[in-house]
Amino acid sequence: MKVVPVPCLRDNYAYLVIENGRAAVVDPSQADPVLSAIDAAKVELSEIWLTHHHWDHVGGIEPLVERCPLEHVRGSKHDAQQGRIPKQTDALSDGDSFDFGGASVEILEIPGHTLGAIAFVSEGNLFSGDTLFLAGCGRVFEGTMAMMSESLSKLRTLPADTKIWCGHEYTVNNLRFAATVEPSNPDIARALSEALATREARRFTVPGQLGHELATNPFLRFDEPAVAAGRDPVASFTALREAKDEF
Ligand code: ZN
Ligand code: FE
Repeated sequence: MKVVPVPCLRDNYAYLVIENGRAAVVDPSQADPVLSAIDAAKVELSEIWLTHHHWDHVGGIEPLVERCPLEHVRGSKHDAQQGRIPKQTDALSDGDSFDFGGASVEILEIPGHTLGAIAFVSEGNLFSGDTLFLAGCGRVFEGTMAMMSESLSKLRTLPADTKIWCGHEYTVNNLRFAATVEPSNPDIARALSEALATREARRFTVPGQLGHELATNPFLRFDEPAVAAGRDPVASFTALREAKDEF
C-alpha cells in the first residue's frame, strides 16, 4: 500500500492511497492538489474516504466527483444520517471493513472531535483525521471529553508500528505544548528538535508511528502517572485538552 501526502489549504493533509492500481483519496479539502497528485501517480481515482464532515476535509468532493469515475464516497453512518458529507455513497460503522485492491480496510468509530468521526485502518496505516494528530489530538467539538479520551484509548491498542497519517500538520506546535506538560521527557525534547528540522527542510512530519506517539503524545499519555498527577483519567484528559485550547 502506497500513501502519498497531498498538502491542502494552509496545513491540511489529504492522502492518496494506492493499492494494486486502485486509488483512493482521504479527506480531500481541495480538488486541484489531489488531481495533480493523481496525474503524477498515473492512477485513476475510484474512491474517496472521509474521516469526518468538516469543510476542510470534504471541500474537494464535488469537483472530484465531476472529474473522476468514482465508485465510492465512504464516510460514517452518523454523517450519512446527518447528510453532511456531499455525495456520500457508503455509510460505515465501527468494525465494518471493505476490500480495496485486495487490501482489507477496517473502520473504527472514534467520536469526540465530531460525533461521526471514524478512522480507516489498513495494512499498518491509520488515517486518523482530526482525532489523533502527531503529538496532539483534535478539539472536542461535538462529543464529550470522556468520549474523546475513549476514542484515543482505542487507537492506542493498534500495533506499535502502525503508521499515523493525520489530518493536519500541527506537529511542531503540539510538541511545544507537550514539552510544557512533561518538561523532563527526553523523547519529547528530541521529537521537537527533529520536527523543527523536518519543517525547516520543508518536509512532512507524517507519517508518525504509534509506538513513538505513546512515548511523546500527552493525549495518549493522559493516564500515565507522570501526566495524570493523581487525577482520574478523564479529569486528566480534560485538563490537558483545556490547557491546549488556550496554548
Ligand atoms: Zn475537523
Ligand atoms: Fe480539520
